[in-house]
Amino acid sequence: ETTLLPNPKDTLRRVFGFPDFRGVQGDVVNRVLAGRSTLAVMPTGAGKSLTYQLPAVMMEGTCIVISPLIALMHDQLRSARANGVRAATLTSADSDWRETMNTFRAGELDLLYVAPERASQPQFLDFLTSAPVALFAIDEAHCVSEWGHDFRPDYRGLRPLLDSFPDIPRLALTATADRHTRADILGQLGIPEDGLIVAGFDRPNIRYDIRHRDNPVKQITRLMEEHPGPGIVYAPTRRKVEELALKLAAATGRDVLPYHAGLPGDERAANQAAFVASEDMVMVATVAFGMGIDKPDVRFVAHAGIPKSIEAYYQETGRAGRDGDPSQAMMFWGAEDFVLARQRLAEVEGERQQGEKVRLDALAALVETPGCRRAVLLRHFDEDPPEQCGNCDNCIDPPKVVDATELARKLLSA
Ligand code: ADP
Ligand code: MG
Repeated sequence: ETTLLPNPKDTLRRVFGFPDFRGVQGDVVNRVLAGRSTLAVMPTGAGKSLTYQLPAVMMEGTCIVISPLIALMHDQLRSARANGVRAATLTSADSDWRETMNTFRAGELDLLYVAPERASQPQFLDFLTSAPVALFAIDEAHCVSEWGHDFRPDYRGLRPLLDSFPDIPRLALTATADRHTRADILGQLGIPEDGLIVAGFDRPNIRYDIRHRDNPVKQITRLMEEHPGPGIVYAPTRRKVEELALKLAAATGRDVLPYHAGLPGDERAANQAAFVASEDMVMVATVAFGMGIDKPDVRFVAHAGIPKSIEAYYQETGRAGRDGDPSQAMMFWGAEDFVLARQRLAEVEGERQQGEKVRLDALAALVETPGCRRAVLLRHFDEDPPEQCGNCDNCIDPPKVVDATELARKLLSA
């Protein structure tokens, strides 16, 4: 007699409406369904959520999802429920706690999203023992590492919870982790070394372009004229965001809106919604903008100053061209950006300072290289790139490297 086990691909089609897995999704899902703990490093937009949502639907019991931001959780909740997945959040912004807890206890919940500070409390552990848990998914897992670019101490508090359920698999997910951070995540979350799955990081449709900043308004105006579609301009401070938004709107006559954490919540939400719905708007923003935004047709991402690290640069530029169409990532940098960053570095303490210094040096190497930008980026993520990508500023228009020996020889022989 044969039993027909549900098959991941059937569930993928039936519940999520996708014909196939993308990239390493299938590998991750199969490992998790086999009950093996995993760290999946997959670029932004690669579809990390599906790698726990699908097992959550198939496995008996609830998948507990640790996620750092309430806004992210609510986005996920909406899209999971739209697929008919039984999902809930337990956050300070929710009023239906009692109902959620009852649904969990009744075993009628596929996904339960919680923040790390709540998940690490002893009461939460008690609560979880009241019904079967299928899986722990730890989103944005680089937050557990001081080497990561976004360390959050609350993530460290998760380990006792995870260890209280030694037989329940853990799935850690991140878009941004260099070799050091990966090893750290594995150790911190107790995932075996052979549980690492890394997806390809190349985004061939994004053209990387990194230049000196001379007149940023003029430079970004030119970029906006070349790209009539939606774009994001990252500026380092709230004041610069406001200033650039006004100047760019005046210079181009295009729809330009600001976004930063200093704006009232409703204005931020309205600007974000307008951007997502628009086919030609430009958002000038601090790095507060972008996490969890799923807009496929962003045609350019500009940096009006240096990003925090290569990881941050990759994540921020990765918001361009998710639809696969040609897109541009343009960074305008000045030497003063690095001077300021080094001054700030001096104020950071302990082990974190070393991490931040390494990150800043790596960023400087990307900015200063006369070679292929993509090669530097991909090597940073441990990939073996071709020497030349043909789709970055240095490949398209190789910089003239001044050869001092050659120059000296000419001068001497003149
Ligand atoms: P990540 O968390 O890795 O940045 P998400 O989980 O938010 O990515 O997914 C990004 C987008 O990709 C979503 O719109 C999602 O619906 C879509 N997606 C995920 N898996 C697939 C798939 N197998 N086929 C097509 N689209 C997919
Ligand atoms: Mg995600």
